[in-house]
Amino acid sequence: MRPFEYIRPASVAEAVGILSERGEDAFVLGGGSAAVVMLRLGVVRPECVVDLGGIEEMRGLRRNGGLHIGALASIRSLELDVGVRAAYPLLAEAASQVANVRVRNVATLGGAVAYGEPQTDTPTALTASGASVRIAGVSGERSVPINEFYVGPYETVLEQGEIVSGIDVPEPAPHTGGCHVKFTVGSPENKPVANASALVTVDPSSGACTAARVVMGAAGPVPVVANAAGALVGGEASPERIKEIAAAAAEEADPIEDLRGPEWYKRRILRIVVERALICALQRART
Ligand SMILES: Cc1cc2nc3c(=O)[nH]c(=O)nc-3n(C[C@H](O)[C@H](O)[C@H](O)COP(=O)(O)OP(=O)(O)OC[C@H]3O[C@@H](n4cnc5c(N)ncnc54)[C@H](O)[C@@H]3O)c2cc1C
Repeated sequence: MRPFEYIRPASVAEAVGILSERGEDAFVLGGGSAAVVMLRLGVVRPECVVDLGGIEEMRGLRRNGGLHIGALASIRSLELDVGVRAAYPLLAEAASQVANVRVRNVATLGGAVAYGEPQTDTPTALTASGASVRIAGVSGERSVPINEFYVGPYETVLEQGEIVSGIDVPEPAPHTGGCHVKFTVGSPENKPVANASALVTVDPSSGACTAARVVMGAAGPVPVVANAAGALVGGEASPERIKEIAAAAAEEADPIEDLRGPEWYKRRILRIVVERALICALQRART
């Protein structure tokens, strides 16, 4: 590994100041689960590494009508937090399916979001949840809806010198059920061949669906919002109808062939994970 200067700022202002001053010579370290590998393999060769780990204001979870998650919150903390599990079960479920406990203890939600890797679980769930990303830079903070945050694989709207400082998740409407389904080959700890998050709201008197959102991961360069899910609203939610919606959703995806399989195979898996996520979310919304 090429030697580099290591800086551990104590505040967001200090971090973005250093990052904007050092420009392309600087590299951000979140939890380090991917960043350390990139440094070791020489994928990145920065002159200085800015470790965000000492910034207290970027830690923790706060509930105030919605959920604010500091960028340094570990994936494991989302999986375990009682309040998140009760009020934002979709997010807790997606977090619980990331890799293994060792990775979940280290990886941060801010890192998972900023990384922009298509094969991740939490961005899929955050997109289905209508989350926004808080971005800090030298000129202040801005908030971007997560479905506008991703530009391509490993590419986001973050400008030079900016960091993800937190994520805001709106509280789900009453009678909403969420479900995250991940399919892997080999070990369940592996990154997904495909995943899907569904968030469905029902009318408690009739059981009819009043809102439905489905997002697919590892399904294209960025999390893919399935327009087909809209057909569930006000319509019939029979098993046959859900199958049709899942098939249409898989057609909206744009998966690539890689070591996890060819494109046709991923589309087939997407159909199945979307169907399962929708059935499960509907059941949860109705109970
Ligand atoms: C073996 C293994 C298996 C995994 N499996 C899964 C899986 O199944 N599902 C899943 O969802 N994830 C999985 N992950 C986690 C995922 O791939 C990333 O490693 C993780 O999300 C990165 O989080 P981090 O905090 O460690 O970020 P880091 O590794 O520190 O950083 C990742 C990238 O984001 C940038 N960055 C970090 N924090 C910020 C910030 N706050 N603002 C701006 N830029 C930032 C860094 O510069 C770097 O480019 C796995 C990881 C490993 C190692």
